[in-house]
Amino acid sequence: MKVLLLGGTGEARALAAALHPAVEVISSLAGRVPDPALPVGPVRIGGFGGAEGMRQWLVDEHVDAVVDATHPFAATITAHAAQVCTELGLPHLVLARPAWSPGTATVVASDTEAAETVAANGYARVFLTTGRSGTRAFKDVDAWFLIRAVTPPDPDTLPADHELLLSRGPYDYAGELALLREHRIDALVTKNSGGAMTEPKLRAAETAGVPVVMVDRPPLPPGVHTVATVEEAARWVKAETAG
Ligand code: NAP
Repeated sequence: MKVLLLGGTGEARALAAALHPAVEVISSLAGRVPDPALPVGPVRIGGFGGAEGMRQWLVDEHVDAVVDATHPFAATITAHAAQVCTELGLPHLVLARPAWSPGTATVVASDTEAAETVAANGYARVFLTTGRSGTRAFKDVDAWFLIRAVTPPDPDTLPADHELLLSRGPYDYAGELALLREHRIDALVTKNSGGAMTEPKLRAAETAGVPVVMVDRPPLPPGVHTVATVEEAARWVKAETAG
């Protein structure tokens, strides 16, 4: 039995560690970051070439089941996996980490709506944590931005007035609070990524009285089987591969 594990997240690495070497798992990374944290076991890196490319790869590699443990905002690869597994009749699971409760945050549907919210409220010093692909929508917003990302955004997408902070989580509460205060931040923009690694910024914002603009998650494809934890996903894989 062979399992494709679509990854690029801490949960995917934890799942690979829980299954390897008892189950043959091939982890797949998009190849976005030059120095990715690698899971244990075999890894392939790079896109498949759309849904058709993924289908061919699954057939050629004789894969028996697919676990999608990608980031909640990686909607394209998640849609491709759901579609192809349905077509091929392959067991398919989505490991979707629970969303954060938005609390008092202003919930918006997209980066564009988040940028409109920042402009409409006249926020002047914004902590922007929506990742390297999330800066373009803010390019023409008249504010200063502290932009945190793992890899540098394309310079064409950056607002004129900004400071770039290249780093990778996890982050802690004290550090996040200090960052908000040091930079006199008056708004935090975040995706609703969920998970513990980047959640301390929300608690720090609450303490500092900094309003939060939160981009809601894209919906999962209809009808997919979903679990919330690495442990549940490991149980599912073991049950599938035992049969
Ligand atoms: P996306 O928009 O859903 O995917 C775009 C394309 O990238 C896909 O069509 C696919 O190319 C390729 N791809 C994505 N994930 C892949 C994987 N695990 N293995 C092989 N190819 C993959 O995804 P994204 O938002 O660019 O995210 C890319 C990766 O970074 C994901 O693995 C995700 O878990 C991770 N990540 C994303 C975020 C985020 O905020 N979006 C944050 C942290 C980590 P083909 O069509 O050619 O197959």
